Amino acid sequence: MTGDSPYLFYQSRNPRPYLDRGEGIYLYDESGKRYIDGSSGAMVSNIGHSNPRVLAKMKAQMDKATFGYRLHFRTHPSEDLAAKTVSMCPQGLDRVFFVSGGSEAVESAVKLARQYAVATGQGTRYRVISRFPSYHGCTFGALDLTGYEPLRAPFAPMMEGMPKITAPTTYLDRDTLTEEERGFRYAELLREQIEEAGPETVLAFLMEPVGGASTGALVAPDSYYQRTREICEEYGVLLIYDEVMTGAGRTGKFLAAEHWGITPDIVALSKGFGAGYAPLGAIVASSRIVEPVLDAGGFQHGFTYAGNPLACSAGLAVLEELEEQNLIENAARMGDVLKARLEGLMSRYQFIGDVRGKGLLLAFELVADRSTMEPLPRELNAYTRLVEIAYEQGLIIYSRRTRGGYEGDHFLICPPLIVTKAQIEEIMNLLEASLSRFADEIANALPE
Ligand code: PMP
Repeated sequence: MTGDSPYLFYQSRNPRPYLDRGEGIYLYDESGKRYIDGSSGAMVSNIGHSNPRVLAKMKAQMDKATFGYRLHFRTHPSEDLAAKTVSMCPQGLDRVFFVSGGSEAVESAVKLARQYAVATGQGTRYRVISRFPSYHGCTFGALDLTGYEPLRAPFAPMMEGMPKITAPTTYLDRDTLTEEERGFRYAELLREQIEEAGPETVLAFLMEPVGGASTGALVAPDSYYQRTREICEEYGVLLIYDEVMTGAGRTGKFLAAEHWGITPDIVALSKGFGAGYAPLGAIVASSRIVEPVLDAGGFQHGFTYAGNPLACSAGLAVLEELEEQNLIENAARMGDVLKARLEGLMSRYQFIGDVRGKGLLLAFELVADRSTMEPLPRELNAYTRLVEIAYEQGLIIYSRRTRGGYEGDHFLICPPLIVTKAQIEEIMNLLEASLSRFADEIANALPE
């Protein structure tokens, strides 16, 4: 039970204090205790909290109109945000559709893909191949595409199964292949799955370019990105990148896809796109996909709050902030600094098995044995325990224990993109203190 509040929401075992206010990378509870938001919430608050320029722009919009239904009025914030988004995306992604969150974005991407297939005489295509592990959202459609059993299991009979291939968890592989060969090998799983399902039934391939909550900042070998793009092309399968977590600058580029020069057919954005200032998401697609859908009568889809002027004014202000303050470059630079500092911890703590990620989407994984990558015993509950210790010290981090094909406790360290070198030192001091306490606690549980 969570006390006498009627508010139904997820509670960790330790009830959390009331949030009072945020400022930059810091959050304060009602007792005045300060926390570093080391995970930007759930990788959301990319430009930090209470940014006065963003708030002023939102206030200016609030004073005019907070809502105008899209069938009744055009609005400048929605059109300006669409134009700004396209200007920040790679060429070829030139149409935008707004939603209010990540699951909505994923669902919308799949529905756009389906309507494109129907509009272009490819109505037999309906299967979306996704990966295991993965996370794509909590609505039925998005959950069906999610490769994370604990979340799917309670709803399993209610969902029609979509095929899944193994994501390239190459850091666990102990073969003699080169990175490039491993990337090709994992990409071939896509080809095999398309062939098995029947190419004429396959609509799209959906992937997180860098894993988020599912795999803890897992980056694939470069060859994987190139080859999966080629395979999609070869079979006429649409490539959808779920950039809900990676998008809007988090990995040091506006889209993570840019690291590999990939232009997906459809991209899902949310989280850092509204950066916590408004519930906001979007899909960005190429007009090659959108035009036939419009010609066939339009996109049969749309949420009531989609493109509302207040959320869009927030999104526009967030993107302007990213540009004007060079925050994407800062994410790339500070990401390198933070990653090197995290890698440095590996010599001190044998139980850190892997440090990975791109830009400021970084994670480390704890293991019992680095040479075999054997996970820590489940009973240790490392993924909750270390988070609790850090929280007590005033550092918020985000963790999961992945289950299924492999097990592992991973921890995402993803501060807002405004983070400075000095603040990274603050984060590292608190993290080291937390790890050292955690090490004392588990000393007896680890093998000699
Ligand atoms: N896709 C990815 C990659 C995500 O990380 C998330 C959220 N963790 C979602 C989709 C779903 O987003 P939301 O919770 O806003 O619906």
